[in-house]
Amino acid sequence: MAGGIEIKNRDEIELMREASLILFEVLDEMEKAVAPGITLDELDAIAERETLKRGATCAFKGLYGFPKNVCISVNEQVVHGIPTRRKLVEGDLVKLDYGVVKRGFYGDSARTIAVGAISDSARDLVERTRLSLEAGIRAMVPGNRISDIGAAIEAAVAPHGYGIVRDYVGHGIGKKLHEDPQVPHYGPARWSRGQPNPRLRTGMVLAIEPMINAGTHEVETLPDGWTVVTKDGSLSAHWEHTIAVTDDGPRVLTRP
Ligand code: MG
Ligand code: MG
Repeated sequence: MAGGIEIKNRDEIELMREASLILFEVLDEMEKAVAPGITLDELDAIAERETLKRGATCAFKGLYGFPKNVCISVNEQVVHGIPTRRKLVEGDLVKLDYGVVKRGFYGDSARTIAVGAISDSARDLVERTRLSLEAGIRAMVPGNRISDIGAAIEAAVAPHGYGIVRDYVGHGIGKKLHEDPQVPHYGPARWSRGQPNPRLRTGMVLAIEPMINAGTHEVETLPDGWTVVTKDGSLSAHWEHTIAVTDDGPRVLTRP
């Protein structure tokens, strides 16, 4: 432990790698199936089938009472969408946020996928969000602070006028899906007073997951108690990886 943050040894990081690679493959299977006409429930069923086939368990089902396997959010939905019989249509932006557990360790990752052709502005939002995650990952070196991650993400998206969601943040991950520390996706100028800002150390594993809105940063939760949407109805994008801090730099566990 370092300041309440679990430090993982090499063996534990290898176990997290195993879970994370299964997660990558399952997300690939879902992504391949994304097309106009498929329902969110069908995507959810693919996740369950492909996860169990690989000897892992779906991490989200039942967690905090979540009723399905995958969080699937469409267009102005930001995060925590519940799969339904809704059919995807050409032009939709679909966010797949998924986690698996294998041998007691978690992986957590999210992608934003275009359904067929999308507008240039939507494509820009998706790509800037993906690049902001990469910028945040590059800041994950020993000796930097947690705030360096959010500052890097903010520097990548702010010039484009997009809103960075503040109500949901990245997190430590390991034997639990959500561990300390919290990782805001914005710079420390907007942090609440007293927010811990520890230095990054080898063996820390974090899930970084910028949620970026085409409009303002403001979000609200629908009456289902789960689905988070942009307050102004604008599009939102979400990318997430699980990353270990190592002596050799950041190691993204959730991609080969
Ligand atoms: Mg996630
Ligand atoms: Mg997460």
